[in-house]
Amino acid sequence: MAEKYDVVIIGAGIGGLCAGALLAKEGKKVVLLEGRKGLGGRAVSIPIKGIYTELGFHGIVKNGHLVHVLEAVKQDIPMIPLDPNFVIYHDGKFFEVPGEINDFANFEYIPQKDRAELMDILRLIHDTTIEEAEDYDLMGWGDWIKAHTSSRDIYDFLALLANIPMTEEYTSNISAGEALRCVGAGLREKGWSIYPRDGAMNVIHEALAKVITDAGGSVRTNVWVREIVVKDSVVQGVSAESADALVKIEAPIVVSNLPVWDIFKLTNQENFPRWFVDRVRFNEEHSQIAPSASLGLTCVSSKPLNNYKTAVLVSCKEPINSTGPSYVRWLSQPTNWIHGMGKDKHLFQYGPVLPRSYVALCRERPSIYEKEINNLWNEIFSMHPHFKKEDILWKGDGIIPSTDCSGKFPGNAWRQRIDVQAPNVRGLYFVGDTVRGWGVAMDTAASSAILCTEKILKKSTGISLII
Ligand SMILES: Cc1cc2nc3c(=O)[nH]c(=O)nc-3n(C[C@H](O)[C@H](O)[C@H](O)COP(=O)(O)OP(=O)(O)OC[C@H]3O[C@@H](n4cnc5c(N)ncnc54)[C@H](O)[C@@H]3O)c2cc1C
Repeated sequence: MAEKYDVVIIGAGIGGLCAGALLAKEGKKVVLLEGRKGLGGRAVSIPIKGIYTELGFHGIVKNGHLVHVLEAVKQDIPMIPLDPNFVIYHDGKFFEVPGEINDFANFEYIPQKDRAELMDILRLIHDTTIEEAEDYDLMGWGDWIKAHTSSRDIYDFLALLANIPMTEEYTSNISAGEALRCVGAGLREKGWSIYPRDGAMNVIHEALAKVITDAGGSVRTNVWVREIVVKDSVVQGVSAESADALVKIEAPIVVSNLPVWDIFKLTNQENFPRWFVDRVRFNEEHSQIAPSASLGLTCVSSKPLNNYKTAVLVSCKEPINSTGPSYVRWLSQPTNWIHGMGKDKHLFQYGPVLPRSYVALCRERPSIYEKEINNLWNEIFSMHPHFKKEDILWKGDGIIPSTDCSGKFPGNAWRQRIDVQAPNVRGLYFVGDTVRGWGVAMDTAASSAILCTEKILKKSTGISLII
């Protein structure tokens, strides 16, 4: 006998968890099916030597869409601001990137002669509204910057400010509208990132899952959905399998949290109009080109590398020792900021954001992979001369095949992205970082969940997508 629910959500990434919690709060009986053993998708938290952390830094946008969803479902999770926003390592020195525009007057990373001009441009970005930014959705970020400055140093820095959150190395691949929205939100909030004070992202996943179960719904892991059942262009439910059983669920609404192109693995492509299939395939191809994978190292040590409560990245001006194509590196030390941590055990993670094709090459060619990992260790020791091999208690390294799939290229930002409601199939919806929504990756997923919930309920959730 099939079970009956109002809504089936496939996948417990940030998009699926947010949509599930919002719908449950509105009285829907929701079942969320996740194929893997843990919640969170790419933002999953795992314990490393007893310290919970994600596979790479996961900053939450300050006062962003994910925070607004948590507020709407009444989950009060204490957060701490990561301060300074970012630290740039360049030429043997660390430069703290300020949150306040006026503090850029003392930002030594930019030559003194250019600082006033940089501040004027940052004020312009700060004052550009979300609606005004839409006028630039079709333009590349590089072109926008060039139209506002002839300084190479300012160009590099503004490129970096958008390349960091959008994990996209080629500035022309970033929509200027999306860059204006994301960088502008950070400037208006006087800081970009926050993080759960008492743990890792799992605190958020569990809170959102609890909203679903408290409302009479169900959250199940280790259940892979194999088919979305569609009859006469209307969703009927899903069939799925766990280790020991086949699961059949009837529901008038199915929300897929998979990358949108994976929908064709679960239901026949013939169900959709040709333009939709072409557009989805185009996005899939683009997501393969854009830098959105990583490799890196994780280390548990007896002392921290430095005391910054934030992610450090390596300057775009000087790709030290790098053989890979990427210049941006993340260095996160969650034990520097998680409450009660970092007394005798420290953890850091370090790695670049890379094109997927390069990460695939590293997977196939162990010699290239080993060279990359060795280079990363050399960078760690050259950036932190006081840190010695003897300080390492445990170390590991690995590949992350996909960081985010946001692909916010000109023409694929905000309203131009694939809608959260599928065409021609009644009852089928999408959430996640590949569909309509805006913001830094997890925030795109959260905003898509807000839009999806509003379409399903045919009313406003009361959450503004405008920060
Ligand atoms: C190293 C790294 C660093 C990052 N840093 C940041 C950051 O600092 N800030 C930020 O905002 N974002 C960051 N991101 C990006 C962020 O993790 C993603 O954008 C976001 O988590 C994507 O969420 P999503 O809703 O699209 O779902 P996903 O995370 O893609 O989740 C989809 C889920 O669906 C499940 N699934 C798939 N198929 C099936 C099926 N057939 N049946 C059942 N379940 C299925 C999958 O197992 C998965 O759990 C980072 C990502 C990585 C990897």
